[in-house]
Amino acid sequence: MKCNQCHSDDIKVIESRDVAEGQAIRRRRMCVACGQRFTTYERLERPQLIVVKNDGTRELFNRDKLLAGLYRACEKTPVTSLQLEDVVNSVEQDLYACDESEVRSNKVGELVMDKLARLNEVAYVRFASVYRRFKDIASFEQELSLVRQGKHLAEQQETAASSAKIKN
Ligand SMILES: [Zn+2]
Repeated sequence: MKCNQCHSDDIKVIESRDVAEGQAIRRRRMCVACGQRFTTYERLERPQLIVVKNDGTRELFNRDKLLAGLYRACEKTPVTSLQLEDVVNSVEQDLYACDESEVRSNKVGELVMDKLARLNEVAYVRFASVYRRFKDIASFEQELSLVRQGKHLAEQQETAASSAKIKN
């Protein structure tokens, strides 16, 4: 790496730290020759994920597009943009963990719904109604009661966990 000011290659690192939850390293560097300071980022190079849609066509996994869809589903709910970023990050991690270069769009939708269900019921239902077109009102209500049960269970576990903490 060369200094963009004086083209010297005598560069030293003055600070390194993990950013983006350990997914990247940010380094502050300084040119020893002229004192110019600059920043570099180092990230894991990952292959592009390809999403296979229901009609068989393929497109690159696009996290911005997914995030935009989530924003729409979460309008007028208390879900924050930070929480939505987390949902997308966690979906992306899960997809990479499958270790396949192609994933079905259903799989992406299921992962999103699974995470959204734990965040907010309204957001979940809005997203689900677009992604998984419910055949009839009965299957919709069944889905909703599953979410409520899941939430209830999670709350019980949380209560149990926090009362265990108090005891300790
Ligand atoms: Zn320089």
